[in-house]
This record gives sequence, C-alpha cells and structure tokens, in this order.
Amino acid sequence: MHHFRYRNGILHAEDVDVREIAAAVGTPFYCYATATIERHYRVFAEAFTELDPLICYSIKANSNQAVIATLARLGAGMDVVSEGELRRALAAGVAPDKIIFSGVGKTRAEMAAALDAGILSFNVESEPELHALAEVAAGRNRRARVSLRINPDVDPHTHEKISTGRAEDKFGIPYDEAPRLYGIAAGLEGLEVWGVHMHIGSQISELAPFERAFGLMRALIVALRAEGHDIRHADLGGGLGVPYRKDEPDPPHPSDYARIVEQALGDLDLQLALEPGRLITGNAGILVTRVLYNKPVDGKHFLIVDAAMNDLMRPTLYDAHHEIWPIAEEANAGPMRPTDVVGPVCETGDYLARGRLLPALPEGALLAVMTAGAYGAVQSGTYNSRPLVPEVLVRGGKFAVVRPRPSHEDLIALDRLPPWLSSRG
Ligand SMILES: *Cc1c(COP(=O)(O)O)cnc(C)c1O
Repeated sequence: MHHFRYRNGILHAEDVDVREIAAAVGTPFYCYATATIERHYRVFAEAFTELDPLICYSIKANSNQAVIATLARLGAGMDVVSEGELRRALAAGVAPDKIIFSGVGKTRAEMAAALDAGILSFNVESEPELHALAEVAAGRNRRARVSLRINPDVDPHTHEKISTGRAEDKFGIPYDEAPRLYGIAAGLEGLEVWGVHMHIGSQISELAPFERAFGLMRALIVALRAEGHDIRHADLGGGLGVPYRKDEPDPPHPSDYARIVEQALGDLDLQLALEPGRLITGNAGILVTRVLYNKPVDGKHFLIVDAAMNDLMRPTLYDAHHEIWPIAEEANAGPMRPTDVVGPVCETGDYLARGRLLPALPEGALLAVMTAGAYGAVQSGTYNSRPLVPEVLVRGGKFAVVRPRPSHEDLIALDRLPPWLSSRG
C-alpha cells in the first residue's frame, strides 16, 4: 500500500503531479510520501497496541531529517548505528530516552557521545565491546543499560547480503555464549544488565524464522532470569519485508507478526522494542529519473537514464528488483520489450533493471523507480563526481525539498590541495 498513483494519466505522489516536482528540482530525485510513512507507522503501532512496545525506527533505512521528524511526531523512538545517526535523531527532536544504539563496531567516542546524550540503551555485540562500554561508562560515572545482541543461528531465507542471524554472519553473540557474557556484564561496574536483543536480517517474507528466533529468545530470558539477571527488556529487531514486485505475494502483515511476538513473549512482563526500517519507508519513496537515450545493441535494448548506481545501489548490491513505472500512464499501452535500464556511470554493474519488459520510452520521458524509500538515498554516493541526488517530501498537495542537490562547486570544495600543489609560483 502506498500513495503513488496515476491520476488523469499522470503519476502523482499523494496529490502532487510528479512532473511538477521534476520541473522544480530537476532529475534525478527521490520523492517520499508523508501519508505512506505515517500509515505504515500507524498500522505497525496499532498491531502491537496490546504489547505497548517502544517502536524505534531504524534510521539507517532513510535518515533524512524530515523523515525522522515525521516519525518522531507520531511518537517513534529511533534505532541508531553510529554517532552520525545519533546526532541526526537528536537534531530532529527525538527524545534521547527513546534512542537505542545498535551496531557491531561502536567506537569509544561514540559510546561516550551516546552516554552523554542519555540514550535508553545499548545493544552490545561482542565481549570486547562489553568491556569497552563498561570502561567508558565507569569513566564518566555512568551506568550503561545493555542488551546483548544474540545471534540465534536462524536462517531468515533472505538475500545473502542482508542475512544477519546465522552463525557465519558477523553480528551478535553466539546463543550458547550468552549466559557467560551476561555473567561478565553483571559484574562490570559501568553496566546495567537490562535486556536481550536479536535482529536476524532484512526483507524477511515469512514468519517461521521470527517464530524460531523469538522462541529461542524466550528460553534465554527464562534461563537468564533463573540465574538472577533482571531482564526487563526485549528488542526484537526489524526485518519484516515489503513487496518489491507486483507479482509477489504480500509479506506477512504486522498483526500476524504481533501475534507470534505475543505468543512467544507476551507473558514475560517485558518492555518490548521493535526496530522496523524498510517496512516504514520502503514503499514510501520513489526515485524519479529521465530517459537520456535509447540504444539498441545486438538485439538488446538499453534505456540510458540519468539516475545511476551511485544514486540507488540496491540493484547492483543486492540484485534487488524495483518496479519501473512511466510517469505518463499512456506509455504502458504500447508493446513491451525486454529492456536494460542503465545509468551513465562507467561500470557494467551500473543498472537499475535488466531484461525488464517496458514500453518504448522516448528521450525526455520520466520514469519512477518504485519502492526506493529505504536503503536508497542513504546509500547514495558521488562516484563519477555526480552530486548527491536531492530528496523531496510530499504531504497532501504540497512538496518541499528536504535535501537540495549540491552544486559541482560544493563537491569540488570538499577537496583540499596540499601546500606543494597549491602555490602558484
Ligand atoms: C538494519 C537494522 C534494522 C532494520 O531492518 P529493516 O529490515 O529495515 O526493518 C533493525 N535493527 C538493526 C539492528 C538493524 O541493523
């Protein structure tokens, strides 16, 4: 469900004609629909009403200040994985006691910044990290609330590069080692043992892996409590998928997900946290691009567009499929042919779609790359000296540029010449 629809033959973002935005900001650009972000948050929150969890949006999915502020106003907390994300959350007005710090490689400086900000808790991923956090906290006369991120060795049946809960993945602490590490944590002055965390992967399309993981989590919490640990909090991670293809079955509904959480953990009197990312912003965004050239080669058809892998890396990085919609609906009436939609970047891996059935699209035609709201703009870069793609947020009939396109001068000005090259003599 999202708010990008054809109206009078033209794709609209909520009530705004996408061509109007293109004329104002140029292409390519990301466009997000407030109504979709808000709806997904509300549907998710409502599914969990009875369990009353803290919903911490995973900022890494889309960390634009406007997106964070939109969610913060609905009461969302934030899951951050770096000091940069922590600062983004604070800058957007998120209360520190709704922020959870995750991630496998927090530096001591990042831990200090988070402690000073007064965040809710840390999800710790290794024994040395536990010692580092205890040291940093004790050195500041603070106690850090910790949950250990447990790797349950459950295969979430998702793409190799977004699987995080198998024994061979770098994330978390092996399940069997958890009791020993909780014992260590309990003895460290700077720490307050507080919870258990799991996050088994992203774009998960079935409930069975969650069911297995939450069952293991339950057993662990019961065992830890029996050993005298005061486990009050369980952070279940994110990972619920969104549909990327029109012919794909819908992923599980949040209410079904809530039911398995309730079954596994509902009677344990826990303060729950959930960290959805993609589910909230995934299909709330599109990447709008313009056709530069048509290039038939050797029986193949290349559509060269002005967006590239530096703007949206998911097809290249994860073999991701994004639907591609012409902005003018009438194009869809024409005959379809297999098309490779590629960008201007000098890499063979620079494509947005391969072998996709698309109608003939003339130079200058606008296209929307769908479901690009999560892990899109946040992964963009400036390879080939292409300025970062701008971001636009729509609300009803209005739109605002929420990250302007930097100029070429801005980009060049990030560099400095060393003294031996800068003198003109
Ligand atoms: C990335 C991440 C999430 C969000 O995952 P989604 O699949 O976008 O919901 C949640 N928690 C942690 C720890 C993560 O690293």
